[in-house]
Amino acid sequence: MNRAVFLDRDGVINAMVYNVEFGLVDSPANPREFTLLPGVPEAIRVINNLGFLAVVISNQPGIAKAKFSEPLLEAMTHQMISELAAYGSRIDSVYYCFHHPDGVIEAYRKTCDCRKPKPGLLLRAADELDIALDQSYFIGDGITDMQAGKAAGTTNILVYPSSRCYICEELNRHHVQPHYIVPSLHDGVILIQQVETDSTGRLKGEKSDGNQAVS
Ligand SMILES: [Mg+2]
Ligand SMILES: [Zn+2]
Repeated sequence: MNRAVFLDRDGVINAMVYNVEFGLVDSPANPREFTLLPGVPEAIRVINNLGFLAVVISNQPGIAKAKFSEPLLEAMTHQMISELAAYGSRIDSVYYCFHHPDGVIEAYRKTCDCRKPKPGLLLRAADELDIALDQSYFIGDGITDMQAGKAAGTTNILVYPSSRCYICEELNRHHVQPHYIVPSLHDGVILIQQVETDSTGRLKGEKSDGNQAVS
């Protein structure tokens, strides 16, 4: 079976967008607004080199809410993948939830099983890509990421760029504790590398002549 590092997208891979007009922070709505965060290409290359699949798991209710169209989201996905590829980094697969219970697009207005905090996208990815969830990681910057990971049984890493944990109380209220808290995706991936490799840089449990972890 494969092992994966599941990645939330907005706020982990790309910067959020500050909407001055509404005073809100939101997901990018088109490729022009899509900017990779510092250290992300390097981080994803480490995931690739460790032999883990890099799989994006992201709620995109902007589709249900008609904030942007599917072709625009596809264009953002394409841009993300090609910008990363230019650095020699590979995203293996991307899973989105388009739904929202209050959506205006009827086809996507529903209470689905794939919108985080539910683990539906993780379960689907695990099934389709033959991933052992209990030997995989989920890195996200939201409480719903930690909830989805907990429900799926992954090791969960919260990206939280402050030493004052303003959302820890809320995490407690939802009975969800990240296994680790790090300030960036890059730090999270370096942490995985430390946990998973021995002093020679080899994956723990790996045979000296192979590159596949023994599970
Ligand atoms: Mg996020
Ligand atoms: Zn959904």
